Amino acid sequence: MTTFQTPRAGERMIAVEEAQERVLAEVQALDDEVVAFTEAHGRVLREDVQATYDVPQKDNTAMDGYAVRAEDIAEASDGTPVLLKVVEDLPAGTVAARHVEAGTAIRIMTGALMPDGADTVAHVEITDAGSDVVRVFRPLRRGTNIRKRGEDMHLGDVVLRDGTPLHAAEVGVLAGVQKTSVRVGRRPTVAILSTGDEIIDVGDTVTPGKVVNSNSYSLAALTREAGAIPRMIGIVRDTREATIAAIESALASDFVISSGGVSVGAYDFVKDALDALGAETKFWQVAMKPGKPVVLSRLRGRLYFGLPGNPVSCMVSFLLFIAPAIRKAMGQKENLLPPIVQTRVMASLKSRGDRRNYMRVRVLARDGELVSEPMTSQGSGVSTSMVQANGLVIVETGVTVVEAGTLIPTVLVGPVQS
Ligand code: AMP
Ligand code: MG
Repeated sequence: MTTFQTPRAGERMIAVEEAQERVLAEVQALDDEVVAFTEAHGRVLREDVQATYDVPQKDNTAMDGYAVRAEDIAEASDGTPVLLKVVEDLPAGTVAARHVEAGTAIRIMTGALMPDGADTVAHVEITDAGSDVVRVFRPLRRGTNIRKRGEDMHLGDVVLRDGTPLHAAEVGVLAGVQKTSVRVGRRPTVAILSTGDEIIDVGDTVTPGKVVNSNSYSLAALTREAGAIPRMIGIVRDTREATIAAIESALASDFVISSGGVSVGAYDFVKDALDALGAETKFWQVAMKPGKPVVLSRLRGRLYFGLPGNPVSCMVSFLLFIAPAIRKAMGQKENLLPPIVQTRVMASLKSRGDRRNYMRVRVLARDGELVSEPMTSQGSGVSTSMVQANGLVIVETGVTVVEAGTLIPTVLVGPVQS
């Protein structure tokens, strides 16, 4: 007969921070590959990228107006504008044929290279916009409205470092230095299996006692959001044999995640199956709510995350433990863990106080401050409480009430809302 699960030798409940450290200690960057820079968005850079020339190549104008000598317009005012002869017209992308000599100007458009002799650009707004002769109504300090050569990048500068996640700005810089092929981390594959005799798949008829498999799909979406590739293994029945077979079939992926079956129940077979397969347990049970029964194991070179079945526990433990692991596997070196900020909680919170509680909130920017609005229900089975949640307020062990208005540490798991 099956019986309740008990800790194996050396297994004890550990703190979230220790669990995160143990997870990251088990992860190395996977191999890399070269991709077109247009495919690099969302990947992690795995080489240093240098500027191959100065950007801008030469001093150029930041404004539409007239290239002038600052000394020529030093006495300009509304009442006594300075008159300059316009000797040339210079659109962006062309090079001036003439010099700017005393008493002259070249009409110049944003981006055009500064003509020799000129040291300042009188923007059109301080002139009469003349064509043959221009009147300038204000003096300017020498160098005004000029973008200096190399102001953006200098030849040889490392402009993007190994380990940098490639977002929009980084893709722009890759384009700017003509880095058309770029070395990035391979995307990890993540096998996802959902255990439970009560679990039915989307589209199946819901009969009493059955629960629709939502975890596989939320985990797959979280996996994609973290930059990895989900591999759906499907639903696994609560027997030792089925669990062993499913885990074995999942080991072709870089990481394996299961939901459910990892608690202390008589039909929780994930730990038995891992034992049978010779897995090395790195931890089981983390001092947190939701998500206490989380197991981390190493099995045949793969990292196995056994998450609890409750939809909220499942997502919260993914965000705290697996997303950082995926980032590191892709080659990211810094900012692996979700940031923790102080937010002002807008409604009072109650907690059991027996374990650290990660309570779901919406973090909003209001009057220059981060505030958090708690979700009305905080049950670990209430999947809708994760909808719109971008923060987890940390209520420590021993704290049973948090008054509205309190500043409280909050894990940010999504962009701050407005
Ligand atoms: P377990 O951790 O296996 O004890 O599962 C705890 C609870 O989580 C179950 O009673 C289900 O209600 C729920 N659950 C487990 N697996 C899933 C799943 N794949 N999708 C949605 N809910 C699930
Ligand atoms: Mg179960």
